[in-house]
Amino acid sequence: MNNTENKSPTGRLELICGPMFAGKTTELIRRLDAARSAQEITLAMKPAKDTRYAHQELVTHAGGRTRASAVATASDILAAIGDARVIGIDEAHFFGAQLSAVCLKLVALGRRVIVVGLEFDHRGDMFEPFPTLLAHSNDTTRITGVCSACGGASIYSQRMVVSAERIHVGGVGDYEPRCAACFIPSAR
Ligand SMILES: [Zn+2]
Repeated sequence: MNNTENKSPTGRLELICGPMFAGKTTELIRRLDAARSAQEITLAMKPAKDTRYAHQELVTHAGGRTRASAVATASDILAAIGDARVIGIDEAHFFGAQLSAVCLKLVALGRRVIVVGLEFDHRGDMFEPFPTLLAHSNDTTRITGVCSACGGASIYSQRMVVSAERIHVGGVGDYEPRCAACFIPSAR
């Protein structure tokens, strides 16, 4: 076992990135279920701003679900972890740059942190926590979606509605996964 890269022998940062509707939350729930089966104490967190589905659950677009705590800010995550060893954080892009320091702190405390989110906004720019999180990640899984225009592998999320907000909480119809050739960044 090689743990020399971690401050703690057990701390670990895992990233699950990809566009909307690629199955990111499904993969998070699978990893949390597996950790619980191995007798680990797990905790799932989500931003309180994400109001699309149930407040105290992670819910996938396909209907999968697991219990989750909704928190307003990244620092609220630190206050909520208790003795959880494995911490899943969904919709990481909602938390902004502050999430990076929180995740690094959790890893230093010996926790396994699994972060899920969109790395690119509707303009194709990276959401703030991701450049730092990608640099510090022990394991990064990039899940591609199926481009809604050509069927190719997609990493971008095309916004289909007009909104001035960088984050527009949307579901089916508001975003489509798109490949680099078919992605049209929103106007600046
Ligand atoms: Zn395409």
